[in-house]
Amino acid sequence: MLYAHRRAGGGLTQPHIAICPAPLYLAGMKTLRPPLRPLFALLLIGLSACASQDEPGTKGPLALLAPGYQPLESLSLCRGIPVSNAPRHDTERRLLDYTPFAALSDGRPILRAPVSDACLSSGFGIRGGREHKGIDLHQRPAGPVVAAAAGRIREIHRRDDFGLQIILDHGKGVFTRYAHLASFAPDLRVGSVVKMGQELGIMGRSGQFTRGVHLHFELLKGRYDTPYKSFGLTAHSVLALPAYRLGSQPNGATPSG
Ligand SMILES: [Zn+2]
Repeated sequence: MLYAHRRAGGGLTQPHIAICPAPLYLAGMKTLRPPLRPLFALLLIGLSACASQDEPGTKGPLALLAPGYQPLESLSLCRGIPVSNAPRHDTERRLLDYTPFAALSDGRPILRAPVSDACLSSGFGIRGGREHKGIDLHQRPAGPVVAAAAGRIREIHRRDDFGLQIILDHGKGVFTRYAHLASFAPDLRVGSVVKMGQELGIMGRSGQFTRGVHLHFELLKGRYDTPYKSFGLTAHSVLALPAYRLGSQPNGATPSG
């Protein structure tokens, strides 16, 4: 069984193999004398209870992550920045419905915040009379931006509006956009296959409409092979997706599209 464990610093470690209690139970019952067997059974029940206290939505997808990436365990609204479209949050400005991994409609996991560390500087939806088709994540100093899920690069180039941007194709009509980057990670090109959590570049403020350094991150669905390409896709809020649950058919396979 794979478990995620909290570090003292609050992050999540990579998964490790834990001992499954079932074989232990059988071995113990064979080797222990009858008076000790009930105590042994109680011990194993305790072990099982500990294992089940792992936070839902955080342990299964860790096995799919690129080595070294630690998903953001919590996400807060940025301080000192007026945050438009702010999702539900507590008095400490932490988002109430945030989990590191969300579930796509087909059950695959996706990172809600594909960064190494950041705060939310803008949510999804109507902002100043215009639709904001993604979320904005701000980090100072600017840090790495990573792939929200396993995928293949469809676009990697500079645009006037989005600056340095990458579009990832996750298969089954699911895409993500990463815009306003300062630089791209080396050796990435159209067709490159990336893992969930693999670095795509460094957060920046390239392009237009940027008030400061941030990642503009979009979750898009639909058909890419139209004249409109990514602009013919429908934007969805990654913060509104349900939490990823174990048993919802994790799939780290490389998409074919
Ligand atoms: Zn934005």
